[in-house]
Amino acid sequence: MRIAFPLADIDQISRQRADGFKSACLAKAVQNNGKILELEEEDFTTISRQYPLVIVKPAPRIIRQHNARLRRRFAFPPGLQSTTPPLPSICTMAGNLAAATGRTIISAITPGQKTFRTESEQSSILKICNTSGPAGAPCPYLRQADQRCSKCGCYTQWKSKLATEHCPDRPPKW
Ligand code: SF4
Repeated sequence: MRIAFPLADIDQISRQRADGFKSACLAKAVQNNGKILELEEEDFTTISRQYPLVIVKPAPRIIRQHNARLRRRFAFPPGLQSTTPPLPSICTMAGNLAAATGRTIISAITPGQKTFRTESEQSSILKICNTSGPAGAPCPYLRQADQRCSKCGCYTQWKSKLATEHCPDRPPKW
């Protein structure tokens, strides 16, 4: 079967194909009246395989414009704060993790000390994190997207399970 392409379309397609695509099409054209190119479908399929799609890397100026558009589109309106508070620094979080691990190990090897909270204790704590803000809203330190406490950087799901750990707010909420 024969297929017909406007030459403008071939120009556009060739920009996304390996070099030589357009010349190969012109060479195989059954008919070329300067505006429409007629090709046998089989030939076009072969040429498409020979000159596959390439990833066109946009010019740096285009990338900069695109990034600027994204920044404008997703920028927080002035006066409105992000609902995701930032985490503490990596060093602070590493220190918190090391201290929590130490306390948990000590509790595990000390007779009579509790290491883990029960499920109901844990769910009461998670409820506090999720409702202790103004008017029953989540605690302002809770990052709702990943359920991490921005005061200590811990995942509330894990921290609430460990009996030696407590809310880092002053005064602690649990
Ligand atoms: S400050 Fe306390 S209540 Fe608030 S998210 Fe952190 S652990 Fe939960």
